[in-house]
Amino acid sequence: MNIIAQPQRLNDPVEQGIAAYLDEIIALRHDLHQYPELAFQERRTSKLIASHLSSWGYDVTTGIAGTGVVATLKRGAGERRIGIRADMDALPIEEATGLGYASSNPGVMHACGHDGHTSILLAAARYLAESSTFEGTLHLIFQPAEEIGAGARKMISEGLFERFPVDAIFGLHNWPGVPLGQFGFVSGPAMASVDQAKIRIVGKGGHGAEPHRAVDPVLASASFITALQSVVSRNVDPQEMAVATVGSIHAGSASNVIPESVELKLTMRAFTETVRQQLQERIPALARAQADSFGAVAEVDYRLGFPALINHREETDFARGVAIATFGPARVEEGFKPRTASEDFAFMLQEKPGSYLFVGNGETPPLHSAHYDFNDAIIAPAARYWVRLAEAFLN
Ligand SMILES: [Zn+2]
Ligand SMILES: [Zn+2]
Repeated sequence: MNIIAQPQRLNDPVEQGIAAYLDEIIALRHDLHQYPELAFQERRTSKLIASHLSSWGYDVTTGIAGTGVVATLKRGAGERRIGIRADMDALPIEEATGLGYASSNPGVMHACGHDGHTSILLAAARYLAESSTFEGTLHLIFQPAEEIGAGARKMISEGLFERFPVDAIFGLHNWPGVPLGQFGFVSGPAMASVDQAKIRIVGKGGHGAEPHRAVDPVLASASFITALQSVVSRNVDPQEMAVATVGSIHAGSASNVIPESVELKLTMRAFTETVRQQLQERIPALARAQADSFGAVAEVDYRLGFPALINHREETDFARGVAIATFGPARVEEGFKPRTASEDFAFMLQEKPGSYLFVGNGETPPLHSAHYDFNDAIIAPAARYWVRLAEAFLN
C-alpha cells in the first residue's frame, strides 16, 4: 500500500492537526539528517529537541546519560503514566545517497532512521501539547547511543524510571522491506540478543616444512570453526533460534611459517535467555576442548551485549489494538516475524512493561546501508499513532 498515492480526506482531527505543521517537521528531519552525531555526542540534536519541546510547554530535563532528554507533560487528574522513547544517534558510515540534505559530517550518517524516529515523536509531542486530549502524565524519552554504548542502559542507571516513573513504555523502528506505513507487532521475543567473543588460539610457531616441531593453531581453529556450528545444530533446541558467526579470523603472514596464534571474532544471537546462556557456556568450552585436542590453548573473552527484546503480551495487544482502531486491520501486518537484529530498548523492557513495534519504510535500501534514507511518508501516520496510543493509554 502506498499511502501517498491514495490521498484521503483528513477526517481525523489528529491527522488534520499534524498535517498543519508536517512541512516543518519534515524540514527538521532533513536538518537532523544533515547534521548527524555519533553515540553520546548528540549535543546539537539534543539541544534542538529540548528547545522545541520547551517551546510547546513541556517540562524538559536534559543531561541524562549525557545527551539524553526527557520531556514531561501532565494534564488533568489522571494517575496513569506512559513513556514513549525515540533514539537520536547516527552511525560511522560515509553517506552515499547524494541527497540534497545528505550528511555534512564526513563519515557520520543517519543510516538507521533515528532522525526519523525523533521527528515522529516530536510531531506527536506538538499535537499532544496543543490539543490536551489526555489525562495523566506523558514522558517522552529521547535516548542517546542506541547503536553502540547502550544508551538505554545508561539512562536507566542514571535513574530514568525513578525520576520519570511510567506504567508502560513504547518505542518503534522503521523497517525497510515492509510496505510503507504498515505496522508490525510481535508479542514475546521480537529482536535478538547480541553477544561477542574474541577467541585467541595459541599454539607454537615454527617452520612450515616441520609441522611436527610446532603446534599449529590454524588447524586447531579450523576444527573449532567447523565444530562451532554443532552448538546451533546439536545443543540448541531445534525449535529455538540461535546464530553463531565467525566474522573475523587473523593469523600469520607467510605461506611457509606456522604462526604462533590465531585470533577469531564471533557474534552470537538468540531470542531467549536460555539459549543465550547455552551459547555462552558451550562456545568457550568447545573452543578450549578443540584447542586442547591439538595441544593448543584457547583464550576466550566472551562479552555480553544487548539482551533479547521481549515484548510484553498485554501492552503489545493494546498497541496492536490502537493501530487497528486508528488505521483499520489492513494496515497491521499479519504474523509479523521477530527480527534477528538487536535493539537496546530491550533494557527498558526488562524494567517496565511495554512493546516495541515496527513501521514499514517501503522498498528502500536496508538499515545501515550507505544508500539508506528514512521515508518521510511515515512521519504523519506514525506520529498519529503515538498520539492515539498516548490518548488511549491515558484516558
Ligand atoms: Zn541501527
Ligand atoms: Zn536503529
